Amino acid sequence: MKLKEKIVRYIDAGFPLLYINTTEEDKADAMIRSVAGNRGIIEYSIIDGYSNYKEKIFQKQYSHLANFLEHVLEDEESLRHTILVLKDAHFFLEMPEVIARMKYLLQKITSDLDDCNIIVIAPTLKIPIELEPYMTILTMDYLTQADIRKIITDFCAEQFLEPVSENLLEELSMTFKGLGEFEIKNILSLAMADDGTITRADLELIFEQKQQVIQKSGILEMIPLKESLDDIGGLENLKKWLRRKSKIFQNVNKAKTFGVDIPKGVIVAGMPGCGKSLNAKATAKLFNIPLLRLDMGRLMGKYVGESEANMRKAMSLAEAISPCVLWIDEIEKAFAGIGQGGGSAEVVTRLFGSFLTWMQEKNSLTFVVATANDIIKMPPELMRKGRFDEIFFVGLPNAEERKKIFEIHIRKRRKDDLSKIDIARLVDITEGYSGADIEGAVRDSVEEVFFNDKDSLTTQDIINAIKNTQSLSEIMKDSIQQMTDIYKQRKFKNASA
Ligand code: ATP
Repeated sequence: MKLKEKIVRYIDAGFPLLYINTTEEDKADAMIRSVAGNRGIIEYSIIDGYSNYKEKIFQKQYSHLANFLEHVLEDEESLRHTILVLKDAHFFLEMPEVIARMKYLLQKITSDLDDCNIIVIAPTLKIPIELEPYMTILTMDYLTQADIRKIITDFCAEQFLEPVSENLLEELSMTFKGLGEFEIKNILSLAMADDGTITRADLELIFEQKQQVIQKSGILEMIPLKESLDDIGGLENLKKWLRRKSKIFQNVNKAKTFGVDIPKGVIVAGMPGCGKSLNAKATAKLFNIPLLRLDMGRLMGKYVGESEANMRKAMSLAEAISPCVLWIDEIEKAFAGIGQGGGSAEVVTRLFGSFLTWMQEKNSLTFVVATANDIIKMPPELMRKGRFDEIFFVGLPNAEERKKIFEIHIRKRRKDDLSKIDIARLVDITEGYSGADIEGAVRDSVEEVFFNDKDSLTTQDIINAIKNTQSLSEIMKDSIQQMTDIYKQRKFKNASA
């Protein structure tokens, strides 16, 4: 349902307090005016104080929200058939005199003051616990691709630019998904500033700007795509599975018509430093769609309901940007403590609930890659069928995989030396080493060679570095066997062939 329809429904149903969490104040304002019908609108903002636009009354002396509320409460009857729009309210929502008056008014509205609603428009969420039971949180709709196309064409016309080609328009409108009108126009102006046109060459700049906007939202991070499946040594079963899903993702309409289900996502769990993050990044590159990383730690807010609202915000932003890969790193840490008592555990449990519902119901092209180190801490509900399509276990690399990992990392740094290196020998002495251990040994040996002013990297240089590296299996001795047993017991698919 669109925000406008939601507002109408909530107002008609007598919901006393709607909280529109947005930076687009003007747009929210216009929307409220268009749905108010014959209700009056009384507005509050720091600059204008009390204002009643219909009767053209402005009373700047009520620039403090507490005074404004006191003023309107002097004549409660005048609030019938009225919407009270509060701007800048978030600056005051910690003050007892504001909270108490709001609460009093809300109690009145829910008892005998018919047809009065309060709508807060604010860029940040502040939910005093006393007001939480009355409050419904709403967010602005994201622009559709068609809306974005129109903004771009209108911008070009306004700036007297040549209209952009159909292909570029398609690419630009995809790149802008998830942003607001104001941000899109700003970025277009910046793209135009250097040479007076908007061309394919501006796509990089546009991507960077978008990255910043997403970063500023504080809950998702857009990661540039560098690594591909070829940068991962081994994990052939997982790669094969991903290639299959990629075919669906790149031919969505055809696949849907054929009756194929749209993939929801995958859990990749297992040993640290064995390529799980690398795999999340390579998936986005393979699917040729943006990669968004969700930082669960940052979702946690200090107000009641704030964490869930942040979660909803992150999910709807990902859906607006979709098709995309949503990478949730260390998912088991985010949801640790579920089902236990206590304040913060309760928040996590609710957060987990809303995530599961979203996973279950989502039909957008948001492919979730959840990575986890410690499967023992992972809540079983997460692994129930219907949520993720598959769960893969990543173990320590076998001999064939270690060979590939050595080749990848030596080629990356010392391409010309690769043919002279006895990889088989290196593979023999690195049983129990993780991909990250191997990369570390190659990296250290190359640095050592450079430091000693030698011309090329030899097998012995790498052997020396390996001897100085403690393997993952030494460090994690007991837990590795325990983890491997659990994965086998639970019948997770092995990522390696
Ligand atoms: P963690 O859980 O500790 O984050 P991870 O499993 O996500 O570990 P990555 O971050 O993917 O591990 O890997 C760490 C580094 O090790 C990467 O920079 C990568 O270069 C290297 N590496 C690990 N596994 C492989 C692999 N299979 N092929 C190539 N490189 C690898």
